[in-house]
Amino acid sequence: MTFAATVLTLYPEMFPGPLGVSLAGRALREGTWALDAVQIRDFAIDKHRTVDDTPAGGGAGMVLRVDVLAAAVDHALAAHPGCPVVAMTPRGKPLTQERVRELAAGPGVIVLCGRFEGFDERIFAGRQVEEVSVGDIVLSGGECAALMLLDACIRLLPGVMGAPSSGQEESFENGLLEYPHYTRPVEWEGRTIPEVLRSGDHAKIAEWRKRRSEDDTRSRRPDLWERHVGARVQSASGAQREVQDD
Ligand code: SAH
Repeated sequence: MTFAATVLTLYPEMFPGPLGVSLAGRALREGTWALDAVQIRDFAIDKHRTVDDTPAGGGAGMVLRVDVLAAAVDHALAAHPGCPVVAMTPRGKPLTQERVRELAAGPGVIVLCGRFEGFDERIFAGRQVEEVSVGDIVLSGGECAALMLLDACIRLLPGVMGAPSSGQEESFENGLLEYPHYTRPVEWEGRTIPEVLRSGDHAKIAEWRKRRSEDDTRSRRPDLWERHVGARVQSASGAQREVQDD
């Protein structure tokens, strides 16, 4: 089944952009996923095709109008009933590999890209729009964030990645960062590939990789490590695994 990506944006010319090359580009040409980049301005209701207005309460910048956004979302939902609608916003829930996996397993996604100061808040509850952030940074628009979200989904679609197993050992797939990689030359500027990786002893290699994955997660991402250890304790005690929301 084709994964249907609909992007609602003021800059449809930004798509497929980087998703038109390499694995995602081939998958697009082969019909593994489909892209519809929709111009939000087409849903403006006045003769000047206005999409934004000044913020209620005052302040700098402009806010995307809820009526225009809703018309664009309704148009996308009419073509893809029941499809999840996601808005890119720094105020949203941080995107995780788990959520990407869920989206990639579904029929597709409708992605709303903001500009200026962002969206009129009423769109989120008014159309069941999920707010998603791609990190504690502020971009000038939601398009780059949408490209990230779509790229992460597309590489998981069946047949897109060369070796299916390479997706499973990736960072975050088991709640940990991946172990580090090396390749030839064996020695470079006095730095060598760790001995164990050249030993041919698969059990030892697996053990080394597991340890590095755990050590690196603990030191680099204490937040991930705590969650990982918490999940392990919970599943060991037979308690129902609770998904931590924060
Ligand atoms: N005034 C907003 C920022 C608006 S930035 C605030 O302070 O929260 C303009 C648009 O860029 C946003 O509407 C959103 O679509 C996009 N954007 C910026 N940073 C983002 C992030 N970290 N994740 C997802 N989208 C982001």
